[in-house]
Amino acid sequence: MSFVSEFNSLPAQSLAQRSLEAGAGSVRESLAKPKLSLADFASLISPAAAGFLEHMGRRSHTMTQQRFGKVIRLFAPLYLSNECVNNCQYCGFSRDNPILRVTLSLDEVKREAAELKSQGFRNLLLVAGEHPKFVSNNYLRDCIAALHSGWPGISLEVGPMETADYRPLVEAGADGLVVYQETYDRKIYADMHTAGPKRNFDWRLETPERAYAAGFRRLGISPLYGLADWRFEAVSVAAHADYLLRNCWKAQLTISLPRLRPCAGEFQPLTHMTDRDLAQLVCAFRLMFPDVGLVLSTREPAKLRDGLIPLGITMMSAGSHTEPGGYTGAGREKIHQTVRGRIVELASGASEWATAPENATNATGQFQIADERSSQEVADLIRKLGYEPVWKDWDAALTS
Ligand code: SF4
Repeated sequence: MSFVSEFNSLPAQSLAQRSLEAGAGSVRESLAKPKLSLADFASLISPAAAGFLEHMGRRSHTMTQQRFGKVIRLFAPLYLSNECVNNCQYCGFSRDNPILRVTLSLDEVKREAAELKSQGFRNLLLVAGEHPKFVSNNYLRDCIAALHSGWPGISLEVGPMETADYRPLVEAGADGLVVYQETYDRKIYADMHTAGPKRNFDWRLETPERAYAAGFRRLGISPLYGLADWRFEAVSVAAHADYLLRNCWKAQLTISLPRLRPCAGEFQPLTHMTDRDLAQLVCAFRLMFPDVGLVLSTREPAKLRDGLIPLGITMMSAGSHTEPGGYTGAGREKIHQTVRGRIVELASGASEWATAPENATNATGQFQIADERSSQEVADLIRKLGYEPVWKDWDAALTS
């Protein structure tokens, strides 16, 4: 049975409703339990539990240090391509957005990776839009193979594939797969994804299981907060994590906490999640899942990221660019504009959402980042908070 069947019978709406209605008494009851159920998790993300945030924060902090030590793992996204055949209304790379696009060659990918390596990174997240012509399976395999010897950790955030198509990528050296469901609300999912293979909700929902079957040893999941009600999303992703911990138990699981950011297309969030909600959610995830990694990206501003570190975050990106070639200017000379999937002559004004002139490339980014500090500045801050920034947390030799 896949998570789809379990999800179909999950009372996610009534759990989300429970989380709105829970009183201080049920929050106390849930906090007293050594092991939490989904209903307890719903109580811990309730408005009533906001009054217990300090207590939850202390417990979450202690639990995180016991399980993970006083370390923050660092990774960098490397965008390979911003071509995409899907229309996702909230994403700058959407097919119909008239943006400046490029797919990096192997040499350009190596250049970008060398720059990130010189900054200290050893964990890489390769990101690409979904476009079978520009981002073929062979292209991805070649990118991974070219980087494998110098990068102990290579994760992917690319269009979902069949298990058989994932296997060569694992063999080439990829060890992690990240896939955001974006929203667990089927109706909103259908409204948000108006064209392309991503319209298939169930296919996406089963992606982590296919990735696990192919041999990926790290799995990352998340909704994108700002589409459906955040409590509904949180309950749903908690159920998803619970399923994966039971059924894909050899893999390390991470849950990310991305909130929508401004991007080309100028999509406005449909729902709001405050900074305090986000802090409460970090604590609730930690109390529910003591061993699951919690990931915070540069979508969040510096001050908030610094404040969330002691609450339970275990992994962060730093110094990120969301445009291909963003670290070195690689691919600059072949940037083109694409309209509805077709390459057209560059129109004036097409660069409205391109990176700032002082940046290295002019390709359009997926979204605006909020924490613009360099990776070294973030590492210094982590040390200042009393944590050790960890650039490398795995070596292929450990599997032999
Ligand atoms: S979210 Fe992913 S699939 Fe959707 S448009 Fe952006 S890159 Fe393409």
